[in-house]
Amino acid sequence: MNVVLMGPPGAGKGTQAEIIRQHYSIPVIATGDMFREAVSQKTELGTKAKHYMDQGQLVPDEVTIGIVKERLAQPDCQDGFMLDGFPRTTPQAEALDQVLADTGRKIEAAINISVTEEVLIERIEGRVSCPDCKTIYHLNFNPASAEGICDECGASLTYRSDDRGDVAKKRLEVYLEQTLPLLEYYKEQGLLFNIDGNRPADEVFRDIKGILENL
Ligand code: ADP
Ligand code: ADP
Ligand code: ZN
Repeated sequence: MNVVLMGPPGAGKGTQAEIIRQHYSIPVIATGDMFREAVSQKTELGTKAKHYMDQGQLVPDEVTIGIVKERLAQPDCQDGFMLDGFPRTTPQAEALDQVLADTGRKIEAAINISVTEEVLIERIEGRVSCPDCKTIYHLNFNPASAEGICDECGASLTYRSDDRGDVAKKRLEVYLEQTLPLLEYYKEQGLLFNIDGNRPADEVFRDIKGILENL
């Protein structure tokens, strides 16, 4: 299955992608995670991306498309993949279709997790994650068993710097301006599936599973 997972910042894409990865053993390609990794490793890509991420802006299309293209060429993606947080602009979606067409593949579903703005803000404000194994927690909705410590690996949990006030607000604005219009792109092709994300993660997953099993 070749699937894209869409939704505003804080909708629960990363949380669902992790459940999907465990159920279906397909690779999850999360551009946000790739960029954060590059920033923490201080690579050339990280230096380029950091400037935009710190301001809540999108990293330029040519950079983002380049890393996804490279990742999709790897052997583990040939039998299916899930993209989390890509595409986020129309040029990214068009480039994705082109790259897949060149290798005889195509997107089979675009799953959009929609969540009200009020809930998004609560989710972003309470999000903490593990810098080592990347497990995502929420201070109220999905807390770690011992406060501040990752259940999986024992590392200290951290906030994302772009989840703070103004930057978080900017990310929501950028989503509405640049990513929301993209839903139409998939709708026109009959590939769009909307899911109500204002519910517990296991209920959201049940719906996603229903879609994936009918592909
Ligand atoms: P969110 O939790 O808001 O969905 P991500 O972890 O997916 O955030 O992305 C974090 C940041 O990484 C974004 O604000 C943006 O700067 C950058 N980024 C991630 N994916 C993309 C993309 N497809 N195009 C451009 N920039 C991206
Ligand atoms: P995204 O990748 O879309 O930005 P995340 O998966 O990181 O979103 O989720 C954002 C925050 O909301 C995290 O703290 C996560 O634990 C929490 N969360 C995710 N899904 C749900 C849900 N269905 N109900 C309550 N909290 C959730
Ligand atoms: Zn961990």
